[in-house]
Amino acid sequence: MAYNRTKPKARQKIRRPRLIVVSNRSPYHLESLDGEIRMIRNVSGMVTGLEPVLASTQGMWVAWGNAPAECDICRIPPDNPTFDLKLIPLDQEEIRHFYLGFSNSTLWPLAHNFLGRTIFQEADWEGYFKVNRKFAEAVAVEARPSDLIWVNDYHLALVPQMLRNLRVTSRIGFFWHIPFPPLDLFRTLPWRRDFLKGLLGSDLVGFHCNSYVKNLLHAVENLLARDVSFSKGLVRNKHSVRVSAFPMGIDYYRIQKLTQEEQTINAAKRIRSEIGSKRIILGVDRLDYSKGIPERLEAIEKLLEENPRFIGKLSFVQISVPSRIQLPEYRRMQHEVENAVGRINGKFSKAAWTPIRYYFRSFPFEELVTYYLAADVCLVTPLRDGMNLIAKEYAATQSPDKGMLVLSEFAGAAEEMKEAVIVNPHSIPSIKNGLLEAINMSKVERMIRMEAMRNRLKRRTVGKWGEAFLERLRGDLPNKKTVGTKRRR
Ligand code: UDP
Repeated sequence: MAYNRTKPKARQKIRRPRLIVVSNRSPYHLESLDGEIRMIRNVSGMVTGLEPVLASTQGMWVAWGNAPAECDICRIPPDNPTFDLKLIPLDQEEIRHFYLGFSNSTLWPLAHNFLGRTIFQEADWEGYFKVNRKFAEAVAVEARPSDLIWVNDYHLALVPQMLRNLRVTSRIGFFWHIPFPPLDLFRTLPWRRDFLKGLLGSDLVGFHCNSYVKNLLHAVENLLARDVSFSKGLVRNKHSVRVSAFPMGIDYYRIQKLTQEEQTINAAKRIRSEIGSKRIILGVDRLDYSKGIPERLEAIEKLLEENPRFIGKLSFVQISVPSRIQLPEYRRMQHEVENAVGRINGKFSKAAWTPIRYYFRSFPFEELVTYYLAADVCLVTPLRDGMNLIAKEYAATQSPDKGMLVLSEFAGAAEEMKEAVIVNPHSIPSIKNGLLEAINMSKVERMIRMEAMRNRLKRRTVGKWGEAFLERLRGDLPNKKTVGTKRRR
């Protein structure tokens, strides 16, 4: 499919307020092949959540990526173009220090309570600072006074204050999609004060959970005590910053529609008959140490050891999406998981039955839904997770008399999905017993619990999540005279 380049002239014609989404991860990966541009969708909770919001409000998405020569700013999504994508290329040094270094070897483990895996390096912080400035400059060039700017996630925490320094006065919202660590962990970060000041350039900072809101406020109160006041909300340098929880939902009605399509139903039946087990347990994650995959496999192993009646009758399907494979931590995890799968399959397999089906790749969403439909239980056991959309998507796909969710108490989703079987993912017996409870649960109890979760998912869709965040951001708008960049466009 070929894509139109957006002409600068056409862009200048748009006068109404628009949304600029900024994130490290691009919703699409662009490739040029024989003069045509191909777009491959990137998989992540953040992309799943933000794409429908931007598609409905129009505007621009600014993200890391290499734009093909044919198009500096492309219209996407491919089948129904509704917004512009502006890509910012990063060189090897930038990737090393900003992305692999500070973002994913410092902030990611720290935010997920893995202090032992956290690396503090001055060069990484400098790389992070430099790339944040690159993003801020790219956004400042595009920003119009009335635009709403929505910066996303831990890779870009300094961008809000940098935009202010570039004299952008548009409203700036920031959404932090992962957990915010408690003060005792956060204060180990040598650059903690500059980091917080960067974030507080925003008008609104959003998190998935109230506990993360509290952690940020606690950090600000303790580390920026001299710079901020809390008498009328959080105020720094006469600039007031709202901090609130906005739990991200899913596109419930789209998912429901998919589950009713004949093609999906037949594909789910095929999966069940191919696997051949009476019970199918499903796990779906990016392959990340925060997701607790080895612990989950160990729990399956124990379950089969202690309950031989499940041999030949229960299968576990684990979909692991490759992630950050440039980092040794992640390659080690890949080998650890593959070894565990091999060991368990070697121990229990019979001629026509294997206990674990392991896929190390990503599935298109429509196909993922067929696995959700085929599964009797979904096992979501991260050691720590900002939200976890898999838990919500699985619950949304189940029919009234089917399915059960086993959920880690350390996933953000557990704050809302209390009717799931809640387990401690650090304890193998807890996961195993949770799984047994889900398998043995009476039909009536399953129906009641799943129905309660589905009702909440219906009310709190991803569309409403985006609207609520933008409404709060817009709702604060001062009168027009005070809004806008001081730079002309
Ligand atoms: N996903 C997908 N295909 C896959 C695996 C996952 O499309 O093979 C999507 C899934 O539907 C979900 C997202 O990736 O919307 C994962 O989000 P989650 O919050 O669970 O985890 P994250 O990857 O953001 O940590």
